[in-house]
Amino acid sequence: MHNLDIDLVEMSLDVIKFAINRITDNDPQLGFPKKESELFELVGETITPEGITGEKAFALFRDVLIKASVPINHPRHLAFVPASPTRAAVMFDLVTSAANVHGAFWLEGAGCIFAENQAMKWLVSLTGLPAGAFGVFTSGGTEANLSAMVAARENWRAKDEPRKTMRGIVITAISAHSSVRAMAKVIDVDVISVQTEDRFEAAQLDEAIKNLSPEDRERVFAVIATGGTTNAGIIDDLNGIADICKRENLWFHVDAAYGGGALAASSVRHLFNGIEKADSITIDPHKWLFSPYDCGAVIYRDPEIAKAAHSQEGSYLDIFSDEGAQGFNPTDYQIQLTRRVRGLPLWFSLAMHGTRRYEQAIERGIELAQIAGNLIAESAHVELVREPSLSCILFRRLGWLPEDYRNWTYKNHKEGFALVAPTKVRHGSEFETVARLCFINPDTTVEDIKAILETMK
Ligand SMILES: *Cc1c(COP(=O)(O)O)cnc(C)c1O
Repeated sequence: MHNLDIDLVEMSLDVIKFAINRITDNDPQLGFPKKESELFELVGETITPEGITGEKAFALFRDVLIKASVPINHPRHLAFVPASPTRAAVMFDLVTSAANVHGAFWLEGAGCIFAENQAMKWLVSLTGLPAGAFGVFTSGGTEANLSAMVAARENWRAKDEPRKTMRGIVITAISAHSSVRAMAKVIDVDVISVQTEDRFEAAQLDEAIKNLSPEDRERVFAVIATGGTTNAGIIDDLNGIADICKRENLWFHVDAAYGGGALAASSVRHLFNGIEKADSITIDPHKWLFSPYDCGAVIYRDPEIAKAAHSQEGSYLDIFSDEGAQGFNPTDYQIQLTRRVRGLPLWFSLAMHGTRRYEQAIERGIELAQIAGNLIAESAHVELVREPSLSCILFRRLGWLPEDYRNWTYKNHKEGFALVAPTKVRHGSEFETVARLCFINPDTTVEDIKAILETMK
C-alpha cells in the first residue's frame, strides 16, 4: 500500500490538477445534492476486497460526487454562514495534509505550532484581552464552545468541594447558537435561556439572576453571550454582561464563532466593546476569516485554567511534559488529543496577504449587507425585518407564506443560480418565516444581490 509506483505519481498529477482548477475557478458551478439511491446508481459499491483502482475512485469523485456537493465559496451562496477561503489558504491546506504533522505536542509539531501561534497571536490581539491570554485552533465553534465550557466548569468546581457533585447551570439567551445547548448536554449542565432573540442586555441577565432560587444560584458557573448571532448578526451587550459576571463571580464566555472576524473591521469594532473582559472567546476562522474547513479557535484570558481542565495524563504521554520537550502543547487547551495543525492554512494566508487585506475583505461583507439593505428599502416587493447587522440581513417578501420561501430556495438552487434560504424570526410566541442573506465572500457583486431580489418578484 505504501509503494510509490508510476501510477500513483500520474494520479497525483491528476489530483493536483483538479485541486488547482478548484482553487483558481472564478465561476464555480453550484452543486446540487442527489438522493442516496441516485448516487448509488451512479457510483455503485466502491469498497471491495480487491479495490476498484485509484483512477476509478477519483473519476467517480470528480465526475459525480463533488458535483453533488455545494462549493461553499460560490458568490451567490448566501445561506447559513457561507465561507470563502482564500486561494492561498486552500492551497496551503494541501501542504498541511501532505506534511501530516502531529499537532498535539510541541515535541512533534514545534515548527508548525510556532506558525499556528503567530496567527493565534494576531487573533488574540483583535480581542483586546490582556497579556497572557492565548488560545488554540479547534475543529470549529462547537468544539471551542465545549472546551471553554469545560474549562469554566472545572474552574468553578476546583474552588469549592461541594460543587464537585453539583450539576452546573449556564445562562445564555435563546438567540445563542444551538451548539451551546448541545454542548451543555454533553457536559450534563442545565441551561437557563433569557427570552430574547434581540440583543441580550445586562438588565436581562440581572433579572435572570435575581429570579434564581438560592439553590440554583449556587449552581450557576458561566454566562454565554454572542458576538454576532448566527441568525441576525446581533452583538449582545458584552460590556454590561461582563460587569455583571465580574460582580457575580461568573465565567464570561463570548461566542463570536461567526462575528469574530469583524473584530478586524474598524467600522464595527466598537460594537464588541467588553469582549476584552471575557474569560474565553470562540472565533471560527472557517467562517469570516477565510480559512478552509475545518478551523475554529478558542481563546482564554488565563490559559492555565484551560490547561488544568484539559491536560490529559497517561504514562505514555509523560515524555511530552518532560523538561526536554517543554513548549506549547495545543492538546492542553481543548478536548482533542491528536490533531492536525489546522491553523496553518490561516497562518500562510495571513503571512502572504497581510492583515490589512483581511480587514478590507471583512469590511466588504459588511458593506454588501448595507447595500442589500438599501436595495431592499427601495424595492416595493420586499421590506427589511431589521436593519442589517454585521453581514446579515433579514427581510420579508410581502405576501409570501413559508412555502413560497421554501420554493424560492429550491428553485434558485436547482437552477444552479444561487443558494439562499429562509429563516424564522420570533414575534412574542409567534414565528414568522423571512428571507436571510449572509455575506462572507467579498467577490459577491451588487449585480448578484439585485438578481437574487429579482427572483422574489
Ligand atoms: C457556526 C456557529 C457555531 C458552531 O460552529 P461550528 O464551527 O459549526 O462548530 C457556534 N456559535 C456560533 C455563534 C456560530 O455562528
